[in-house]
Amino acid sequence: MPAINEILDQKLFSKENLVTLLKAEGVDGLLLLQKAGELKQQTVGNKVYFRGLIELSNVCEKDCLYCGIRRSNKKVQRYNLTDEEVLEAARFAYRERYGSIVIQSGEVTNETFVARIERLTTEIKQLSDNKLGITLSLGEQTDEVYRRWFRAGAHRYLLRIESSNPELYRKLHPDDGLHTYEQRLEALTLLKKIGYQTGTGVMIGTPFQTLEDLASDLLFFKDFDIDMVGMGPFIEHDDTPFNTPQTDALPLSARFNLSLKMVAILRLMMPDINIAATTALQAIDPLGREKAVKAGANIIMPNITPASYRNDYRLYNNKPCTDEEPEQCSGCLDARLALADSEIGYGEWGDSKHFRKKDKG
Ligand code: SAH
Repeated sequence: MPAINEILDQKLFSKENLVTLLKAEGVDGLLLLQKAGELKQQTVGNKVYFRGLIELSNVCEKDCLYCGIRRSNKKVQRYNLTDEEVLEAARFAYRERYGSIVIQSGEVTNETFVARIERLTTEIKQLSDNKLGITLSLGEQTDEVYRRWFRAGAHRYLLRIESSNPELYRKLHPDDGLHTYEQRLEALTLLKKIGYQTGTGVMIGTPFQTLEDLASDLLFFKDFDIDMVGMGPFIEHDDTPFNTPQTDALPLSARFNLSLKMVAILRLMMPDINIAATTALQAIDPLGREKAVKAGANIIMPNITPASYRNDYRLYNNKPCTDEEPEQCSGCLDARLALADSEIGYGEWGDSKHFRKKDKG
């Protein structure tokens, strides 16, 4: 079996070698993170781009076994931001020169919701003189719905595959006909075809997941030729079926380290894509996102949801910053990123270079 150095230098990313990299500890582990950080500087540079995250609603038709806002969780107080609150958050992002926003929500598929997103997208493009980039993260929808939102001005879409192993996907979701791997993959395929910059991702350290699964996830991102990836540690939520760790579950610190390695390896495999330093990392380590930026991530999603709702968009225990107003985040993030030798790409979309290249090619 090749040594870590050889795998990294010659880019020998077979599934077996990816597992070796995921197991790398100590000096080997540090070498991996360091190489990824260096390659990032050479390819996408030291800029980190902001996507102001608006958590539009926690109403959800789905029942994912891991997720705190799943349909069956009766303890959640369900909310919907008003249109004005969404527009105000978008104005805030524009004023603060965030470059882009992400509108995320539980999954809702009725026409009222679809038309509302279409209208809000159009209005946000107008109020920002077309300058604010809009990413949507609203789950699985039909081809027609994705097209309507694209026409309204959304240009990126995030939909995590959650696991590229259909068997594991089945174990993470109820068997109710609403949650199939095939549907998920089909939705991602549609998004790409329509012309969205398409982002996906997985959780790291879920029940039943193996290192081989994570290695396959990395190969999936590459084969699918994805533009953006967001992945982070799985964290239990008290009011879900996955509320207690299984006996062989990884401790949170191990899920965290594994997440950093996933980011680093992916940066080496796909040097010019956008990789997010996700909030779940920060739930485990206060400097988690900065560490991910050092290991190859270049996107951060500061939460700009009005504080009064944040506590209700709780996907997992211990979600950070649920008590802060958006204004409090910006100073905090500047300081944090300085630690990771990065600079913030204010007022820029920070599109995936990978996508731009494909566009031209
Ligand atoms: N309805 C949208 C947004 C879902 S929430 C959609 O389906 O895309 C965004 C992401 O949070 C999910 O894709 C999932 O990967 C992550 N998530 C959910 N529960 C989690 C948990 N317990 N720990 C870590 N991440 C979780």
